[in-house]
Amino acid sequence: MFQNLSERLESAFKNIKGEGRITELNIAATVKDIRRALVDADVNYKIAKEFTDTVKDKAIGSKVLLAVNPGQQMVKIVQDELAELMGGTEAELDIKGSPAVILIAGLQGSGKTTFSGKLANYLKTKKGKSPLLAAADIYRPAAIDQLTVLGGQIGVDVYSERENKDAVAIAQNAIKEAKAKNKNVVIIDTAGRLAIDEVLMTEVANIRNAVTPNEILFVVDSMTGQDAVNTAKAFNDRLDFTGVVLTKLDGDTRGGAALSIKYTVNKPIKFVSSGEKMDTLDVFYPDRMAQRILGMGDITSLVEKAQAQFDEEQAKKLEKKIRKNQFDFEDFKQQLEQIKKMGNLKDLMGMIPGMGKAMKDIEISDDAFKGVEAIINSMTPQERANPDLISQSRRMRIAKGSGKDIAEVNAFMKQFEQMKQMMSMMNKMPMGRMMPGLGR
Ligand code: GDP
Repeated sequence: MFQNLSERLESAFKNIKGEGRITELNIAATVKDIRRALVDADVNYKIAKEFTDTVKDKAIGSKVLLAVNPGQQMVKIVQDELAELMGGTEAELDIKGSPAVILIAGLQGSGKTTFSGKLANYLKTKKGKSPLLAAADIYRPAAIDQLTVLGGQIGVDVYSERENKDAVAIAQNAIKEAKAKNKNVVIIDTAGRLAIDEVLMTEVANIRNAVTPNEILFVVDSMTGQDAVNTAKAFNDRLDFTGVVLTKLDGDTRGGAALSIKYTVNKPIKFVSSGEKMDTLDVFYPDRMAQRILGMGDITSLVEKAQAQFDEEQAKKLEKKIRKNQFDFEDFKQQLEQIKKMGNLKDLMGMIPGMGKAMKDIEISDDAFKGVEAIINSMTPQERANPDLISQSRRMRIAKGSGKDIAEVNAFMKQFEQMKQMMSMMNKMPMGRMMPGLGR
């Protein structure tokens, strides 16, 4: 995510690293580089200029701190200002009321329907809500089908009226249905157009006036950069929306939309969406995003994702097994499954400080574990529970069964052995109790 911007900012800081203190003179090149990096990431020039002016004032005015060098001081100032530019602190979603109504608007293809499904899934699984999805696209029957399929995947009811050509009435009826069925949030997916047009705007505005939503979320494809910002402005002028959703952050996004939208429309980004799967939705935290842009990773989010998948009982059992040096292939497989549930692998890697950069040219697909899983799946339950059983002839059989070379099986067995040795060493150290998630 924002790889190019991260690299450019990092190299901008290099100019100032060796200096004893920040002065107007020695900061000039760094400031210029930061501005260029932002403009090249598709941030509007005016915003980039204002940003670097603020950074410059703060840097020159800042006290000389003995504990950090000017380079580090600059990074901190830029980090704080980036977070500020993206809204400062996270913006909560208003889901009060019975039902709370959330209206989704945006251009066709921006990811509205996908987001509606993800939001319903988020509210259901993370907030304990009972949502109802409403399909208010009266032009494209396929849009209703799409929402119905998504609803089926996440186990959320979808309200639609295929024959009704009155989007306002559909929205109102959906709310009635929600009340009758004790649903406490209604998410209304509206029609989109390829470009902004009057009919579309009027239709969404009419729905808004009729249902007075708690939230109007504007969904926009982050890959469209400055266009995203212009579209946001047009929608906001007409709808006065309450928040922005940036989609497709898993793509090759430069960062312009994320960095300029809040400034332009003065509405917070509430969610970022990074994938087509229903669980790839994240609350937007400006400070964490600033850290990621600066290549510092985002350990907080990583730990939260891990905790969300973390089964306390299972973890305790696992800890015991590790302590007794009984960690086996079945445990290994379960761990892989938990990691996979945490989300897109490349995205997870990017949350580890420095890792995003190190891995930038490496293609990591979500199938990365497939080979290892195939090997484990080809073992008998006895072999999984007792890796010592696995003789050379058994390895041959496993290789055949998993469609792997014997060399690959041997390499994996060796890695597993090394991992167990590591665990046993850690058990002997007092630090063993500090393994993440374990020992508590
Ligand atoms: P709508 O016309 O605004 O309802 O857009 P859709 O929800 O139908 O999305 C348009 C296309 O973008 C679909 O192919 C989605 O699968 C895809 N899409 C939506 N959100 C994301 C995302 O966050 N990442 C990626 N890679 N694709 C997405």
